[in-house]
Amino acid sequence: MDEFTLNVYYFFMVMTANQKVKQRQRSPFFLSLAFKLSLSIFLIASVLLSSLGIYYIHTFSDEIDQRLYFQAQIPGQLMNDGVVSYEIVRDLEVLSQLVGETVLFAAISSFDEQILYSDDLSFEGQKFSEVHSHEKRDEWIVSDLNSQILSIPTEDKSYLCVSTPLLFEKGGKGASLHMKICSANTQAKKHRVSMGFFMGFSLCIALITWVSALLLHRMTASRLRSTVECLKAVEKGNLKQRIPGSKSQDELGILVRGVNHMADELERRCAEQEQLDDELKAAKDAAEKASLSKSEFLANMSHEIRTPMNGVLGMTQLIKDTELSPEQAEYIETISTSADNLLKIINNILDLSRVERGKFDLNMDAVDVLAVLNGLCSFFSPSILEKGLDLKMECSPDLPRIRTDEGTLRQILINLIANAIKFTQKGQVVVAVECLEIAGNECTIGFRVSDTGIGISKDAQELIFQEFKQVDGSHTREYGGTGLGLAISKKMAEQLGGRLAVSSDIGKGSEFFFNITVDMEEGRRTHDNTTSLKRAQDEFDIKVLLVEDNKLNQLVISKLLQKMGCHVDMAENGLEAINRLKLSAPEDERPRYAIIFMDIQMPVLDGLKATAMIRAQEQESQRTPIIAITAHAMKGDREKFLDEGMDGYLSKPIRREDLCATLKKYS
Ligand code: ADP
Repeated sequence: MDEFTLNVYYFFMVMTANQKVKQRQRSPFFLSLAFKLSLSIFLIASVLLSSLGIYYIHTFSDEIDQRLYFQAQIPGQLMNDGVVSYEIVRDLEVLSQLVGETVLFAAISSFDEQILYSDDLSFEGQKFSEVHSHEKRDEWIVSDLNSQILSIPTEDKSYLCVSTPLLFEKGGKGASLHMKICSANTQAKKHRVSMGFFMGFSLCIALITWVSALLLHRMTASRLRSTVECLKAVEKGNLKQRIPGSKSQDELGILVRGVNHMADELERRCAEQEQLDDELKAAKDAAEKASLSKSEFLANMSHEIRTPMNGVLGMTQLIKDTELSPEQAEYIETISTSADNLLKIINNILDLSRVERGKFDLNMDAVDVLAVLNGLCSFFSPSILEKGLDLKMECSPDLPRIRTDEGTLRQILINLIANAIKFTQKGQVVVAVECLEIAGNECTIGFRVSDTGIGISKDAQELIFQEFKQVDGSHTREYGGTGLGLAISKKMAEQLGGRLAVSSDIGKGSEFFFNITVDMEEGRRTHDNTTSLKRAQDEFDIKVLLVEDNKLNQLVISKLLQKMGCHVDMAENGLEAINRLKLSAPEDERPRYAIIFMDIQMPVLDGLKATAMIRAQEQESQRTPIIAITAHAMKGDREKFLDEGMDGYLSKPIRREDLCATLKKYS
């Protein structure tokens, strides 16, 4: 490796080391684009200028060698021209002055290599090869006067051996001038030239790099910095920031304008989005408000309609039990069916509004599923008999008592069974309940309601769980209904943790099913899997207190109770009821009632306050069951009534079956 290459290598080593140190300091400039571009320029300039430098150094070295070669030929030429004599070889100093380098040895030999003249007189007459046997023969360059090409064989040797042919001859044969010339000066000159070139080119590289770095930094740094700042601001959500001075036509100018344009666009879109969000929120609020008002309106309306419906239904039931002509009986039957249908619609709407308003609290309690099925069996027996269908209740024998909301479960089953009966002309309706899995204290119960009715097409199966959707409009005319039952049932099943689904074939029938995973209740298990229609015993020879302010309700409920054999005492409000009970009198003087039916909303003293007063004054052993009668069919109310000391509640309109079941349970 020559000196120049070593120097270049050291230079790179120092640069790399410097860069590493600076990178470790994480100076922003050394991460910048300007630095990277400058580095590239440095590398390119280094390669180009180094190649150029190496070329010039070699050219100049050759030139110097060439000059020495010509200098070495001068004494021979002078001898040939007859300017100097052969004896001059005996004076090395004169020869050295002619050559320009120190001549270490000089001799003239004849064609037979016999030394004729030499600086060392003792060599004269000897053979040239003997005198210089230690110099290799090929080290001697035979100079050619017509040629300028010289190849100095060894650079590390500090001498040059030149043999110049002489024209003059002694004895008619040719002779040669041999000179051994010290080349130390030439080598030193070459070294100086190399160093000069190296220094010059290094300086050029450094200058080019420095100037280009400076220019690039000036041209790019400030714009890139503000571009980065702008992008960072945009990333943080500040869409107002822009990059100044974006008029230049170069790539950076285009980039800057692009970023500014992007920020403009983003700002515009965000503003639009915000406006849209506001509008959307306002529309959503309005829609929610409207939906809430709709639900509240529906709830209020259905609540208000229930009270007069109580009168219609009650009176219809009472008239039915009187002597009627066949024509009157038919009219009354029509009124009764219409009133029942109307009540179903009202109940559906009330349920829907409850579900929509999120007022659908669950009342988790121990439930005997078989008892629920028995109740449903009784409930549907008239319509089953009327249509000539079979209603089968299949209940697995190992069905445990479960913890769930009985009312909700019953409501779902009522909706499904009612539909099954409604859409089946002949055949059967099967309600099957089975325990699918028991894991720890939990069990999964499957409910299925299947029929052999008209069935539902695949397309319609997707729609029927939506509100107000029926298979086709003609169903409404043919079968009646509002299209709410399944929507409500689906939501209710979800509340219980299940998912209501259907499988059906047109003309073959339908099966609605859902599974619920519930806690098991300890204690009695139901083993009776046969269902029987337990007929209510309609005769109750008991004394009942009815507390009700509405005259129509008084009439309807008291008549229904009397029909069932009850002796009914009436009170117009809570205060009157307390007076009737003579709570301040001694125990044995107080009138005793088997059950009290208490309206909630009454003038003077309402049902809840009256109950609280009764409970405060009676003894636990003499506790009379108090049943709330209310048009408030909200779930939360039930807990409120029970907390106030009531034992149960009946919602208006009061049906004979419900009244009968309550009397059986509490009397
Ligand atoms: P509706 O009050 O109309 O019965 P539902 O939501 O209970 O409302 O039922 C929606 C529609 O689903 C019904 O109108 C009927 O077209 C179809 N449907 C529900 N149950 C059955 C069934 N068991 N068999 C045939 N079609 C049914």
